[in-house]
Amino acid sequence: MENDADLVIKLEKATKSYGASSSVYALNEVDLEIRRGESVAVMGPSGSGKSTLLNLLCGLDKQSSGKVIFGGTKLDALTDDQVTRLRREKIGMIFQTFNLLPTLNALENVALPLRLQGQARRAADDKAKEMLKRVGLGDRLSHRPDEMSGGERQRVAIARALIFNPPLFLADEPTGNLDSNTGLEVLRLLGELQREFNTTIILVTHDEQAAAHCERRITLKDGRIVKDELTGPLFQNTKAGQT
Ligand code: ADP
Ligand code: MG
Repeated sequence: MENDADLVIKLEKATKSYGASSSVYALNEVDLEIRRGESVAVMGPSGSGKSTLLNLLCGLDKQSSGKVIFGGTKLDALTDDQVTRLRREKIGMIFQTFNLLPTLNALENVALPLRLQGQARRAADDKAKEMLKRVGLGDRLSHRPDEMSGGERQRVAIARALIFNPPLFLADEPTGNLDSNTGLEVLRLLGELQREFNTTIILVTHDEQAAAHCERRITLKDGRIVKDELTGPLFQNTKAGQT
């Protein structure tokens, strides 16, 4: 038996159904364990339950039955405020659409979670600056999202998502709006940061190339896990400039 302290995510018969008659199962009795440091690609056709799975993992949505346990805590035992704080501080999230605040510059976007936590402006800015330097954007601090390329925006989103050094990092089609070279750079950066931060990555993707960067691949179909395989190669084996 491996150590349960390493468990980041545990689902027990997690089910999400819609409709009075519960006729639509977005997720159907899913059992899943994910440990600290794992990189997991989640694949499957449209409508197979990928978004539902991510939403349950981060507490954006609640299961109809079964258990969703994050770091030993049952999410449905928490208040809405507790879930919001947990999501902000323990779970980094990035999306295909970047989801940066358009009126804030890069520094302000990355500092925002720290400010919301109540940190002083100066300390928050210093940390945000450091993270932006780490993702290669030390010279873009005062650029607003519409003054940056897609790849730069996604790197700002990554800096924001990792600002609390979260044990869990969720990425929903993070390269879906990027050309393949830029997408690959983003994936390489994620791989480097995953090792540095020893975080867990769950990457929802339709892209074989993106999935190939993960050590483990989960395939969903009709709300069930139909495949759960160790794949590799690891992120670190990716070569620079490869397309
Ligand atoms: P994916 O992300 O893999 O495309 P989703 O998790 O979004 O799939 O959806 C899984 C299933 O649940 C789909 O059949 C979808 O139509 C259904 N579903 C998702 N959200 C709702 C909702 N709010 N009401 C009813 N059905 C929903
Ligand atoms: Mg989806």
